[in-house]
Amino acid sequence: ADEGSSRRRVLLKLSGEAFAGGGGLGVDPDVVHAIAREIATVVRGGTEVAVVIGGGNFFRGAELQLRGMDRARSDYMGMLGTVMNSLALQDFLNKEGVETRVQTAITMGQVAEPYLPLRAVRHLEKGRVVIFGAGMGMPYFSTDTTAVQRALEIHAEVLLMGKNGVDGVYDSDPRTNPDAVKFDSLEYSEVIARDLKVADLTAITLCKDNNLPIRVFELLKEGNIARAVGSEKIGTLISS
Ligand code: UDP
Repeated sequence: ADEGSSRRRVLLKLSGEAFAGGGGLGVDPDVVHAIAREIATVVRGGTEVAVVIGGGNFFRGAELQLRGMDRARSDYMGMLGTVMNSLALQDFLNKEGVETRVQTAITMGQVAEPYLPLRAVRHLEKGRVVIFGAGMGMPYFSTDTTAVQRALEIHAEVLLMGKNGVDGVYDSDPRTNPDAVKFDSLEYSEVIARDLKVADLTAITLCKDNNLPIRVFELLKEGNIARAVGSEKIGTLISS
């Protein structure tokens, strides 16, 4: 019998910024450990979890471009940053007793497996966490778009988008506008029409075209990963 067939499978997108903790740059091991503990709990509960982590705590290509760097080269720097985040999370997941594989879109055999979707699915079916590093391996894309593409290719039922310091999607930026109103649910078309800052347009469009629901939630609030995985109505649900 295929033990994997009846289990839930989710794609968790983690904010790179959150990995830095208060520091802004690099990785705060305490934060990564806390996230690993929560992921371990949901994996033990029988959910298959794949992960994509951003790289904003190291480099964003667009920001380096503004400071004079070639966009493609700085995007590769950004992608390499996501691999560091992936290795940090892998380590703490291992410490929590959860087998974990990192697969990267840019091959680097000493540190990770290459991205092999069928093998990723086998890992998930065996209860392993799979972390997809190095984005899509292509400049001009984002880790949000990567998260959507990976979720679609491994047939995850939902994209759970853990954000740093914001608990859902608002009609304006809640950090600068105290009257900002939070949405409990939204349609893809509204996100696009109102230009709401959830993910880049490429990512949202890919979700819309393929009907992949996204739940946006606050990553670092204790217990939130389990709540999001458990389909609790936290944050904002985006669907058709
Ligand atoms: N990146 C890229 N192609 C990809 C994924 C990421 O070029 O497929 C680069 C891009 O420069 C991006 C950086 O990696 O700015 C970090 O990813 P992202 O900005 O999505 O991280 P987040 O903001 O989610 O932490």
